[in-house]
Amino acid sequence: MSVSPDEARFWPKIIKGPRTNDCWLWTGAVGDDGYGRYWIKTAGGQQALRPQRFAYLLLTGEQLPAEIKLMHSCDIPLCVRATGGKDSHLYPGTQADNLRDRSHKRRHANAHTWRWRGTGRANFAAQSRQLRDALKEHGWDESVIRPLMSGHDPNAPTLF
Ligand SMILES: [Zn+2]
Repeated sequence: MSVSPDEARFWPKIIKGPRTNDCWLWTGAVGDDGYGRYWIKTAGGQQALRPQRFAYLLLTGEQLPAEIKLMHSCDIPLCVRATGGKDSHLYPGTQADNLRDRSHKRRHANAHTWRWRGTGRANFAAQSRQLRDALKEHGWDESVIRPLMSGHDPNAPTLF
């Protein structure tokens, strides 16, 4: 299978966590909604893609219709681990709703919940960019990255 220039540029922007089930985090541009942007050149000019959707396309070969949302089971907006398999952190549409329901029922299983849910849009984007910047600066340094994902860092300056 040949690799397109867009795909070749894409993967180096992603840092995978060290554990088997860790997130794969986007380190490129982050939009004001807190989600990534991947810019590609098309015949019509520059176009911004959602990195998680592009990852899903590359990994599954499936182009999702625009109305089908990809939803994070891990709650980390920068995560692009969209393998389409059991180890995926992103699920299309209703399947994701079902998984979310289940994760609500065992709420404590998800340490990321309080940091990434119920926060305002501006904070959401700021948190994403803080995580992205830390990844670019330190790589996946457990002592830096894990607290930024889960929020369990008593020493972190209060930015928000
Ligand atoms: Zn994830």
